[in-house]
Amino acid sequence: MNHPAQRRERLRRQLSTEGVDALLVTAPVNVTYLTGFTGDSTVLVLTPSRELLVSDPRYTEQLAEECAGVETHLCTPAQKLPEAVGEVLGKLGLKSVGFESHIVTVAELDLWRSLAPAIDWKAGTDRVERLRAVKDTSEIARIREAVNLAEGALRVVRSHFTPDTTEHEIGALLEYHVRRMGGEGLAFAPIVGVGPRAALPHAPLTNAALGSGELVLIDWGATGRGYKSDLTRVFATRSISPKLREVYDVVARAQAAAMAAVRPGALGKDVDAVARGVIADAGYGDFFGHGLGHGFGLQIHEAPALRPNSEFVLEAGMVVTIEPGVYLPGWGGVRLEDDLLVTPDGHEVLTRWPRELTSLNLG
Ligand code: ZN
Ligand code: ZN
Repeated sequence: MNHPAQRRERLRRQLSTEGVDALLVTAPVNVTYLTGFTGDSTVLVLTPSRELLVSDPRYTEQLAEECAGVETHLCTPAQKLPEAVGEVLGKLGLKSVGFESHIVTVAELDLWRSLAPAIDWKAGTDRVERLRAVKDTSEIARIREAVNLAEGALRVVRSHFTPDTTEHEIGALLEYHVRRMGGEGLAFAPIVGVGPRAALPHAPLTNAALGSGELVLIDWGATGRGYKSDLTRVFATRSISPKLREVYDVVARAQAAAMAAVRPGALGKDVDAVARGVIADAGYGDFFGHGLGHGFGLQIHEAPALRPNSEFVLEAGMVVTIEPGVYLPGWGGVRLEDDLLVTPDGHEVLTRWPRELTSLNLG
């Protein structure tokens, strides 16, 4: 089954909906989604009967390998990519072209207007991003691989923790083991927060050692075959303090309640409200300052958003994180993050790392 071809067919329906002769896809991640091409500096022109990749000669072989069956037009050595795009659009005799107004620069649009003056340009946002929110079977398989890579890497890294292991070392070791296991790398710059540093939801890595705090928060993910995963776990470094036990249990209950609400038809804001309600009832409402979760796939943050005011309706095939947290300045923070696939009758939890509070027993 040719998944990129099916995705292009879904996007083609947009041509008649918007009444345009062609769509110009310029976001590299959207070009990857629609063609399988993993390079950059390449633009897709989609018409009712044609699909054409405008690229440069560095990619001749890669295009033939990754996008068999899609027409290509390569820039000349004297041309920049936007000039080649303008030339192609002019030659196709198009009257109206939809472009990605959240991606294209004003300078590019000005250039295209001058190179193809007959074209009427129609701005549009998120056409491809909306399609990307619902994953097909090949994408779900790759996301499962990315989850396995992330969990496998932490399993190895965790077995070597000592009181002297630093946040930086943990980040570097996670990257190393994901690659060693065949992954492309980490899905994003990992967050490793020891003790009070875990109260910063996006703490940059430091040389703080595990032994210097009572807990460590690790937010990491892997990229495998283009697709990402995103998890967070908190560990006690020594014996579990009553405070850590209490905060952890609140977050775990909030997460479990929110996960139970994940099903087709649920609104993003409603799933968020379930977790927020549990945390507020426990008296920690002021200490959960971010949204409950987000979609992910080729990118780490994609539609749908699960947060207050999110009107996104969950559909089978969407993949989301559920990541409530409580952050107490000066003490630390607890976030639990798991990856869920929305299924026709509810959801499947893709992550398998246990969610119980455990201690690393570093002494
Ligand atoms: Zn995360
Ligand atoms: Zn996340």
